[in-house]
Amino acid sequence: MTQNRCVGTVWRATAPVLVVHGGAGRIVPEELSAARAAAARRGLRQSLAAGMTVLRDGGSALDAVIAAVLVLEDDEQFNAGRGAVLTAAGGVEHDAAVADGATRRAGAVTCISGVRNPVLAARAVLERTPHVLLSGAGAHELARREGLALVPVDWFVTARRQQQLTGIQARPELTGGTVGAVALDVAGHLAAATSTGGTTGQLAGRVGDTPLIGAGTWADDRSCAVSATGDGEALMLSVFAHEVDALVRLAGLSLGAACHQALRETEARAGTGGCIAVGPDGTVAMPFTSAGMFRGAIDATGDPRIGMFAEDTEC
Ligand code: ASP
Repeated sequence: MTQNRCVGTVWRATAPVLVVHGGAGRIVPEELSAARAAAARRGLRQSLAAGMTVLRDGGSALDAVIAAVLVLEDDEQFNAGRGAVLTAAGGVEHDAAVADGATRRAGAVTCISGVRNPVLAARAVLERTPHVLLSGAGAHELARREGLALVPVDWFVTARRQQQLTGIQARPELTGGTVGAVALDVAGHLAAATSTGGTTGQLAGRVGDTPLIGAGTWADDRSCAVSATGDGEALMLSVFAHEVDALVRLAGLSLGAACHQALRETEARAGTGGCIAVGPDGTVAMPFTSAGMFRGAIDATGDPRIGMFAEDTEC
């Protein structure tokens, strides 16, 4: 099997650290218009700013990743919240998860379609229930009880996603657009959050890797926080995020090497993708085997770094 190039930088950041992604996929300079590239860059910067404000004020990694993902869910160019991709039936089904490295607990929702910000519903599962994953009507009812903003399903549907579903766009879409964040706060705690509409034209009821703790989302203060994106079925079959954790914690690999090896396991299951990851020592890894990945990072010392293409070496 030919291996895709696995690129993306690994660097040592200074706490607090925040890393975000806006999805992996066929993101190449020839196919991304200047306008869309600028919009993606703007969205990633705003997300980093929102999460970093929390971290600089001494807030928790969990609060920071949720603040960062909220911005991307509300930005309709990404595949989460409003602007998420549509199912084969033309519906919207959101998946989201949050993981808290300090407590090693997590919360997630799947197949919901009326909660404005799915990441807040995932947080409600973590903080307000004894469960880890709630689906459909039950998750929606929890969100209602918690007073989260509810919107009609039509509110999520954009013309661009309708055109993408019916295949009438002049050019196939770039795919990707799932969003995620990982953070290390000043107290040394890690957290991760991921949110998605899944894949264009997926069967109604399909669940991807995002809300499956250990597949698309993971955080454990002993090892790493990980948010994945890409071919969900392959990420699930390789239990991707927990594979990264296990390679760091049990096999003693560096975070960068662990991410690369886990992506190879995903590739062996016929999938490409990428992830963002941060360790307790501030090591940041953001590798991908897809053509590109929307990504950004910031730490205590520097300006935000943004990357999209394989050629972007800054990030
Ligand atoms: N991993 C997501 C899913 O399969 C999709 C993506 O990241 O683009 O639901």
